[in-house]
Amino acid sequence: HNAKEQGVEIRRYIPAMQMKAKERLKLENDLRRALERNEFFLVYQPKVLLETEEIVGMEALLRWNHPKRGLVSPAEFIPLAEESGLIVPIGEWVLKTACLQNKKWQLAGYVPICVSINLSMRQFLQPNLAGRIHTILTDIGLDPCYVDLEITESMTLDKETAFDQLKRLKELGVFISIDDFGTGYSSLHYLKNMPIDRLKIDRSFVSEVMEDSNNAAIVSTITSMAHHLKLKVTAEGVENKEQLQFLREQHCHEAQGFLFSKPIQPAEFEAIFLKKAPLGASL
Ligand code: C2E
Ligand code: MG
Ligand code: MG
Ligand code: MG
Repeated sequence: HNAKEQGVEIRRYIPAMQMKAKERLKLENDLRRALERNEFFLVYQPKVLLETEEIVGMEALLRWNHPKRGLVSPAEFIPLAEESGLIVPIGEWVLKTACLQNKKWQLAGYVPICVSINLSMRQFLQPNLAGRIHTILTDIGLDPCYVDLEITESMTLDKETAFDQLKRLKELGVFISIDDFGTGYSSLHYLKNMPIDRLKIDRSFVSEVMEDSNNAAIVSTITSMAHHLKLKVTAEGVENKEQLQFLREQHCHEAQGFLFSKPIQPAEFEAIFLKKAPLGASL
């Protein structure tokens, strides 16, 4: 692999669900120490505005560099972290680190872009989440308009709790996106009522959009519905030009995927994707 991919390549391990209880416990213990041992880091994937091809955002994605196992996939350790409750301090670290990185880039004179941060279920259910995020933003001095929080449909199952939480988060001035849209519990009722800003069409629909006419219908319908509901719409997992062309024809706003870039380390992201702001325009 070339240098560009170093540190973001993930080896495949047995999913936590299929692991033996003993091995699971071991991994959970390792996870418990990972924060203090600085084994986590964030990689960033650009989000492209289709109309202009500008980079308008980035998604922060968590990586765990395990001392013995190497890089462990979030698909493997997030569920473990979620079950054990460790996701709360880990998620807080992600929030702080991503916001601080974004602020540093602004202070360095780059054109500001928005950072998307994934929230887990447990984090989202914390009654004081908005307060914690407010503290992080004020401590760092980051304008909330440069933060986008990604939640999934399943987190809105309890409509009242979700509505109240989203309202508090929106009052901070951050954006809210629904991640993996189309794969979870979708009620059109919640789309109408929840204070959200954006739908992110799940990769599974985008990846087969040229081969599977049902996927094409789904992508087209979600995009059109987002327009009617005055929501932004982002396509995940765009890997080729044909998919991109299809998304343009559907007037999808933004796209993310390997076609533009894999998630990469901050130094690379800075070098490849960030633009210097015109003089005098810095914060
Ligand atoms: P997600 O939020 O839906 O993130 C998108 C995933 O798709 C990422 O996998 C990304 O690397 C991958 N991806 C992006 N473009 C392409 C593409 O063109 N093709 C393919 N095949 N894959 C693409 P990753 O980084 O392994 O993350 C997996 C999931 O783990 C995320 O899905 C998210 O649900 C979770 N996750 C990652 N970081 C965090 C975090 O900080 N907190 C929480 N709670 N969950 C996280
Ligand atoms: Mg996401
Ligand atoms: Mg997603
Ligand atoms: Mg996804």
